[in-house]
Amino acid sequence: MRADVPLHRSLLLRLLAVSVLVSVCSIAATAWLTARSTTVAIRQEQGQALADDARTYDTLLGYAATHPGWDGAGKVVRRLARDTGRRVTITTERRVPVVDSDTGPPATLPARPTASIDPLHVDTVLAAASGAPLAQGTPLASVPDHIDPRAVGPFLLPGKERDALRTAAERRAACLRGSFGAAATIADSPSGRPVLDTEGARPYSETRCVSTVLDRPTATEAKALAALQKLVDNCLERRHESKVRLNLDFTWTPLPAPVPAQAATDDGPRGSVVPECVTSSRREQLAPYVAPPALLFISSRGGDTSTAFDLSPENQARIAGVAALVLLITVTAGVMAGTRLSRPLRALTDAVRNMEEGRAARVEVRGKDEIGRLAAAFNAMAERRERLEELRKAMVGDVAHELRTPLSNIRGWLEAAQDGLADPDPELVSSLLEEALLLQHVIDDLQDLAVADAGELRVHAEPVDVADLLAQVATAHRGGAEAAGVTLVTRADGRLPLVADPVRLRQAVGNLVSNAVRHTPPGGTVSLLAHRADGDVVIDVADTGSGIAPDDLALVFERFWRVDKSRSRRSGGSGLGLPIARKLAEAHGGSLSATSVVGEGSTFTLRLPAHGPAGARSPGPDRRTR
Ligand code: ADP
Repeated sequence: MRADVPLHRSLLLRLLAVSVLVSVCSIAATAWLTARSTTVAIRQEQGQALADDARTYDTLLGYAATHPGWDGAGKVVRRLARDTGRRVTITTERRVPVVDSDTGPPATLPARPTASIDPLHVDTVLAAASGAPLAQGTPLASVPDHIDPRAVGPFLLPGKERDALRTAAERRAACLRGSFGAAATIADSPSGRPVLDTEGARPYSETRCVSTVLDRPTATEAKALAALQKLVDNCLERRHESKVRLNLDFTWTPLPAPVPAQAATDDGPRGSVVPECVTSSRREQLAPYVAPPALLFISSRGGDTSTAFDLSPENQARIAGVAALVLLITVTAGVMAGTRLSRPLRALTDAVRNMEEGRAARVEVRGKDEIGRLAAAFNAMAERRERLEELRKAMVGDVAHELRTPLSNIRGWLEAAQDGLADPDPELVSSLLEEALLLQHVIDDLQDLAVADAGELRVHAEPVDVADLLAQVATAHRGGAEAAGVTLVTRADGRLPLVADPVRLRQAVGNLVSNAVRHTPPGGTVSLLAHRADGDVVIDVADTGSGIAPDDLALVFERFWRVDKSRSRRSGGSGLGLPIARKLAEAHGGSLSATSVVGEGSTFTLRLPAHGPAGARSPGPDRRTR
């Protein structure tokens, strides 16, 4: 980078800053989007895992409630593992494995078990979190004693009693339906006792459709209830509490207290002692019928015990690494693109400096993109500038040359007269005057051209009769033409009205006629012809003179250009007549062109719009037409 471009203005740096900014924004947006969608996915995954865990827990709890040990639980555990796609391990409370769904090496158990399986102390938190009912539609709220309802122990009815109860229940349901039109459905409780749901018929079912079979405990239930009653009695006695009579649904009815005063004082404690005794007695009674408490471990297969999404230091390092890589790629791409962009610009800057210092200035054109086109345009401009510079130098040289010769003549003769070597007779004076006039002529021509180049050539347009104008020019040159033995002819096709500056137009046509007379040998003819064509007035100045070679014809409108360089200015001109005539034509909104055949003659054609110039000023030098 060049030292003279301030760093903060450097194209490369700015490009780099923009691309880094864009990539940082895109990394941030992508990270945010990814984190959001990953969080949603993880939440769904965790939700599913929680539901699976709750189902596994509930199933195993049901197994524990209905089996005295874990020996036969392998099949259930494997099925659960297969269904959930996770490893299920059951251990004792001391973490000694009892059942494992996978046969491989022993699982590396997580620090904390998923749950503790104890049907007599149900983990209500896990069950409630999963939203699942504890078992067979029994909502958690109905087991405040934390004893799984599926643990029925000695209350499990034998088939015979079950059938008898079922028959009685069906009979009663039919009675209720028939008497009250009430919907009555029968469901099985875990012990096998049918439960009659009478819904709206409840008030009537108390008095009508009574079934003694259904309302009384069966023999099995009576035996189990008696055993439980005994345990409760013992408990209450230990705690100095008056006795109660247990019902089949483990509610109780207070028995009349032996000392009324004591019963009154017992009202308070009985509220919590009795349920405690009932619950502990039930646990004591059920303990031999349920599986011992165990720990449940649910882990992902392959030993990965955690599926939680956390941004561990490794994950953070990984994200930082990827972000750094993206940034590195962006910076590299930015540097490459910036270098590609700034290199041609630097080349252009160098070329402009070369141009300022007058050296050749070109840049390499690569590709056709904007920079390629800029380089091509710069080269074209540099070329044109060099051409103009050459033209300017040549013109200064030409002007000096044109002025020097007549000035030298004048000075030479005047010095000779001063030294007495020449006699200042009328002939010498008229010769000096002729040289002075020539000088005047060249200077006038140069001034006309300078005015035209500056776009300040004023055209005072007015209606002109072309036939009259041609006649005036012919009259002005007739003397010279006759002296040269050349015939001057004018012809106009009828009346040709034209809006033009008569003085400037006479000057232009006069230049053409004087050239034609000068280049036509004695006996030849110069014709001034005018006609109308497509709304334009066309004036031809044709001669039967020497003609101009095709190569020269292209150059006759250049300044100071003469076909015969050796010819004296007296017989020729300054080389400014045709450029001035063309400028005048263009100032009128028209054109000047030439055709010629060597040895036969030349025709110069002036074409002017009949309605006159659009403005009364001359156009710039670039609007020249050949
Ligand atoms: P000049 O003052 O020398 O005539 P011009 O610009 O009028 O300058 O003409 C340029 C050159 O064009 C002349 O020197 C001459 O060689 C050539 N030229 C112009 N008109 C004619 C013509 N009618 N026939 C042949 N050559 C001509």
